[in-house]
Amino acid sequence: MIEITKAGYHGIQLPQFNIGFDYSGSRAEHVFISHAHADHMPRNRNVDVFCTENTYKLMQKRGYKGNATVLKFGETLELPTSKVTLYPAGHILGSAMVYVETDEGSVLYTGDYRTPPSPASEGFECPDSVDHFITEATFSLPIYRWAGHDELTDEVTGFAKHTLEEGYTPVFLAYNLGKAQEVMHMLSSLDHPIQIHGAGYKLCEVYEEAGIELGNYESYDRETCEGKILVTTNSALNNGFASNVKKKRLAYCSGWAARESSRTQLTVDKLIPLSDHLDFFELIELCKKLEPTRVHITHTPNANVVQHYLDELGIASRFLDLETETDD
Ligand SMILES: [Zn+2]
Repeated sequence: MIEITKAGYHGIQLPQFNIGFDYSGSRAEHVFISHAHADHMPRNRNVDVFCTENTYKLMQKRGYKGNATVLKFGETLELPTSKVTLYPAGHILGSAMVYVETDEGSVLYTGDYRTPPSPASEGFECPDSVDHFITEATFSLPIYRWAGHDELTDEVTGFAKHTLEEGYTPVFLAYNLGKAQEVMHMLSSLDHPIQIHGAGYKLCEVYEEAGIELGNYESYDRETCEGKILVTTNSALNNGFASNVKKKRLAYCSGWAARESSRTQLTVDKLIPLSDHLDFFELIELCKKLEPTRVHITHTPNANVVQHYLDELGIASRFLDLETETDD
């Protein structure tokens, strides 16, 4: 029997095997970081971890000072009582799922993931069989079903083109790591100058080194931004980003844009439900394919809904409530 417990703010631990996932406390000797989003990076910026090279580079640009042992996808690390292999998670560049094989069975920790994968990532791949599947379920309600990549690309590029044609400056509201670069990748075919907020700009270099095309872009400059395609976050916009540009139109790019209520919470011209997580139906399909002994669900708006669907498939599951954990 493999024990899987919560550890720290967003972390998970396999105490028998001295392994932690997205954890930075002292209770696990081997800590694996799935990706460089703030809620998965080690809270202790000096702790030593294992991760992919691109996650390491992105974490360093976001203030991580510790030592990372870099693992390639598919490379197996032999630990005293387990073997660990990273699989590409398709969420953002560098994102990895952690597969642990032990005498007691196997565990796959997803971190955040997306299948089909983001084209601005290393793709998605998972092992053939898993005993314990620890999965995020951020969009695990049947109201979330994503459009295909081509359709979303058309929405993004179409919004930019029409806005520019009408003499307005298009502004894409997208999180500065992952979503921003995916939107830029989609826009690169337009060959129109792009300006991205400085917090996202410094991360673009890692994407370019990885061979992801981001188009003709530069860092945001208030004096020259008018008429360019702008990429920034909602909070930067509220803090004066491009406030001097009077004729602009806003597109909000997020899985949350699928909710009709987003319209009342945000004053934007266009909602584009572009997510870097998988949707509800993709999650259930993956569980069907993997046939795990048990699914451990994290980050969900309502665990009962996923559990109901998994019950119907005869797959055992439990809810691992990470947000309320404060013991570390
Ligand atoms: Zn993430």
